[in-house]
Amino acid sequence: MWQGLKDKVRREHTLFDDEVRGWIGGYTRSGGNIFCGKGCRECCNLTVNCTFTEALCVAENLSESQAARAREHADLLRRHIHQATDLKTYLRLHRQQIGFCPFLEEDGSCGVYGERPFSCRSLLATKESRCGADFSSLSGEEKRAFIESLDPAVVAFPMHYVAASQERGQELEYHAVRRMKERLGFSLYGNLPFLVFLEGHLRLSTVMLDGYEATAMALERTGLLLPYLVTFDGL
Ligand code: SF4
Repeated sequence: MWQGLKDKVRREHTLFDDEVRGWIGGYTRSGGNIFCGKGCRECCNLTVNCTFTEALCVAENLSESQAARAREHADLLRRHIHQATDLKTYLRLHRQQIGFCPFLEEDGSCGVYGERPFSCRSLLATKESRCGADFSSLSGEEKRAFIESLDPAVVAFPMHYVAASQERGQELEYHAVRRMKERLGFSLYGNLPFLVFLEGHLRLSTVMLDGYEATAMALERTGLLLPYLVTFDGL
């Protein structure tokens, strides 16, 4: 069952990458610039959410040291997540206390590049040195100058990321969620390193085959059904 879901999501990752390459080609020919490349890692300090199917694709290809880093990262999340009282504080907490994705390598490259989820593939920066910046730390004047420098026809305003790639990524991600629901009767979505940890720790993909109740019980019993890290949709 999972193999079919993983194969499909991998095909859609490839399709998406082709579409993004085409979009970037058109954008640069019209004079635009995209500031993403190997070693440019600042967006890897943001929270990364994905479908459980995508997390499984990452989990099955990890080295031992990557798996160990994912466990350490999940442990850090578990110890701090109670401080997040709403989405805004969760995002700030992640940036300031949790830090970079555990799959980021020392040279700034992505250690799971071929399997990275839609949320990573879809972030295209139209501004240099803005990814990972804490917008709330800017003065009013700096915020105004930044917003005025954005191209509202291209970006997911008021961010500097390309809107078209984010919307398409979300659309394909939604398809992956829907397929999981059709097969299992429920879906699981959440923080990438945490979902990878859950697979290693609980063999969650096997537990999920026993249904919604069994999965909910396994997560609750172990105290791992944590807000912002796991979104469990059983309806
Ligand atoms: S999976 Fe790769 S691209 Fe995505 S946040 Fe982690 S290191 Fe960065």
